[in-house]
Amino acid sequence: MRTSALAGGLVRIDLPPDTLAQTHRYPEQPLAEIEHLLFTHSHDDHFAPRELQYLSPNFAPQRTKPLQIWLTEECRDRICAESRRFFEKAPLKMRIVEPERTYRVGPLWVTPFAANHSPSERCLNFLLADVMGGEEFLYGSDTGWYTGTTWDFLATRRLRGAVMECGKGISENPYAGHLSLSECAAVKTRLHQSGSLPANAPFFLTHFSHTGLLLHDALTERAAPLGMTVAHDGLEVEV
Ligand SMILES: [Zn+2]
Ligand SMILES: [Zn+2]
Repeated sequence: MRTSALAGGLVRIDLPPDTLAQTHRYPEQPLAEIEHLLFTHSHDDHFAPRELQYLSPNFAPQRTKPLQIWLTEECRDRICAESRRFFEKAPLKMRIVEPERTYRVGPLWVTPFAANHSPSERCLNFLLADVMGGEEFLYGSDTGWYTGTTWDFLATRRLRGAVMECGKGISENPYAGHLSLSECAAVKTRLHQSGSLPANAPFFLTHFSHTGLLLHDALTERAAPLGMTVAHDGLEVEV
C-alpha cells in the first residue's frame, strides 16, 4: 500500500488513500488512537484530506480530543479547501511547521527539514527522537538527492537509523525527485562519512511501486549486501 508510518504509537506520518485498508489490515494500530499527524507534502499518494472528515463526531464518537496536524502551508490550504465538502466539521488543529526547527509532538521531538522532491511546493522529511533524549531517526520520504544545505544540516545531527524512499528502484529514470537503489546506497555512505549515522545503524527502504522494476525479494537480494533492509506493509521495528 502507499507509504505512511506510525511512530511512538500516537504519531502518524502521512494519510494516503489506502488509510482505511491499512486500518482494517492492522487493527492493532487503530486510527482512532492517533493524536498527531505529520504531513510530508500534498502529493495524492501521501495526502487524502477528505478522509479526515471521518474524525467528525458522527463517525468517531469515541474521540475525545482533536487531531493535531503538523504541516506545510500548502497542505493546510488544501485541507481548508477540502473541509468545505465535509459532511460535518471535523475536530482538527493545524500547525504550520518550519524546516530545521524542533517541535514537541506527543511522545517525540520532531524536526522537519527540506526534502528535494517537488519544485511546486515545500516538501518535508523528518527527524524523530524520543522526548527522553537520544539520537534521532531519519524519515526520508519523499525526496531526491538532498541539496548542499540539507547535507550540511544533517552533518550536525546524530542518527540511530533511517528510512529512505527508493521510489526509482533499479530504473534509470532521470527524474530527480525520487531516489534509486544506488542513490539510497550513496545517501547511506554520505551519512556514514559525515559521522551522522553509525556503520551498523538500521537503514530501511520504502515507497515502492512497479516503476522500480523489481519485486520485494529481488530488491532485497540487491539491497541486503549494501546494508539496507527493504521494508514492507506492516513492518514494525524498534530503534
Ligand atoms: Zn511525492
Ligand atoms: Zn510519494
